[in-house]
Amino acid sequence: MIASDLRSGVEQLGDMIAEASVILPFTGAGISTECGIPDFRSPGGLWTRNRPIPFDEFVASQDARDEAWRRRFAMEAIFTGAKPGRGHRALASLYRAGKIPAVITQNIDNLHQMSGFAPDHVIELHGNTTYARCIGCRTPYDLAWVRTRFEEDGAAPNCIACDRPVKTATISFGQAMPEDEMKRAAELAQHCDLFIAIGSSLVVWPAAGFPMMARNCGARLVIINREPTEQDDFADLVIREDIGETLGPFIGN
Ligand SMILES: [Zn+2]
Repeated sequence: MIASDLRSGVEQLGDMIAEASVILPFTGAGISTECGIPDFRSPGGLWTRNRPIPFDEFVASQDARDEAWRRRFAMEAIFTGAKPGRGHRALASLYRAGKIPAVITQNIDNLHQMSGFAPDHVIELHGNTTYARCIGCRTPYDLAWVRTRFEEDGAAPNCIACDRPVKTATISFGQAMPEDEMKRAAELAQHCDLFIAIGSSLVVWPAAGFPMMARNCGARLVIINREPTEQDDFADLVIREDIGETLGPFIGN
C-alpha cells in the first residue's frame, strides 16, 4: 500500500523496522541527491548530455581513456565535498544497532562507508569512483596518483605493474557485473525479513531483481522513492516522499 502522507509513512516504516530482525537496505541515486551527487540517469542528468564511455571503448582507445578521466576530474569537487545525508546516517544508526548486516548499493560515491559502514559491509554493485584500479591485475591506485601522471604526461596512465589501463573502480557499461557482490547480495536478500529499496527506480537489471528475490523468500518489502516504480504493486509499503525526510527520524535509533 502507498503511504497517504509523510507522517503515516514514517510511522508504518517505524513499526516494520521495530518488528524486523534482519533489515536489508538497497540504495540508489535518490539517497545521495541531497548530498549534491547528481543522478546520472535522470532526465537532464550527466548521462543524457554526455554519452557514457563503454568499457570496450575505454580499453581500446587512449582518447577514450583521456576523455573518461577528464570527465572524472571535472566531478572531483562534487565527490570529495559530499557528506553522508540523512538517509545514509539513519541506515548507519540501524547498522550500529545490529539490525542491518550490510547495505547493497548501486551508488559509487563511497557515502555509506563515510557514514560508518565497514567497507566489507557495503556491497557495491556498480563499484566505487573514489579510487582507481588497474583493469588487468586489479592493483588499486589513488585518484591523486592518476591525476599527477595525467597532468605530467598529458595522457591517462597505465598500471606500473602490468602496463594495462587504470580506470575508476566503477562498473562501466559493457563491463560484467561483479560476481562476488552479486552473490553476496542475493544471499543477503534471501535471508532478510525486511527489504527496503531506497531512492532507486528499480529499472537497472539484474540489480532490480533483489527486491522480488527478498519478497519471494518471505521478507516484507518497502519502497521509498519520489517517483513510482514498476515494483510498487508488490511492496508492503510504498513511500513516495523525500528520502531525507522519511529516514531522518531514524537517525540515532
Ligand atoms: Zn596492472
